[in-house]
Amino acid sequence: MKAAVIRVKDIPAEGQDSAVDIPLTKGRTSMEGRLRGTVNLVVMAEEVVATVHATVEAASTCSRCLEEFENGFEIDTVLVCVPMTELEAEVEGKQLSGDELDLYFYEDGLLDITRMMEEQVILNIPMQTMCSSGCRGLCPSCGTNLNIGPCTCVKQPEDERFHVLRDFRVNKSKGA
Ligand SMILES: [Zn+2]
Ligand SMILES: [Zn+2]
Repeated sequence: MKAAVIRVKDIPAEGQDSAVDIPLTKGRTSMEGRLRGTVNLVVMAEEVVATVHATVEAASTCSRCLEEFENGFEIDTVLVCVPMTELEAEVEGKQLSGDELDLYFYEDGLLDITRMMEEQVILNIPMQTMCSSGCRGLCPSCGTNLNIGPCTCVKQPEDERFHVLRDFRVNKSKGA
């Protein structure tokens, strides 16, 4: 079944597998793409253990050559879904240690699978901002993508004397 919002009471005792297929938007997850996978839900008293296997297909813009590149990733994680009221109680008792477990908090007995997945996407977005570590970027003069091929710009050798002469001329014409 396609998951969106699941009532915890409706999850059968033997657990439940839900297919997820969620479009990702820049506004909600800071990247565009699609998440597909499965979420297995098992109820344990008040808590729900969610085992997530998902693939994110997404594109990013290379910070160097400005081309879009495939920047997908996998999400394999186990989340413990805790009711909001229980969280408040535990925080008061200072028993909460979220370090060893990934927690997701649900309200009103409803698991919002879409929101849960979006949170996981945000937590797992790869830091990679370039299409490859060897990206040659764009020519600063003509803007040609140097990964595709060299541009026709003739490389001017840096000549300090030329710069001095040019600056001198500019200053002289200003003064005149
Ligand atoms: Zn690039
Ligand atoms: Zn060029």
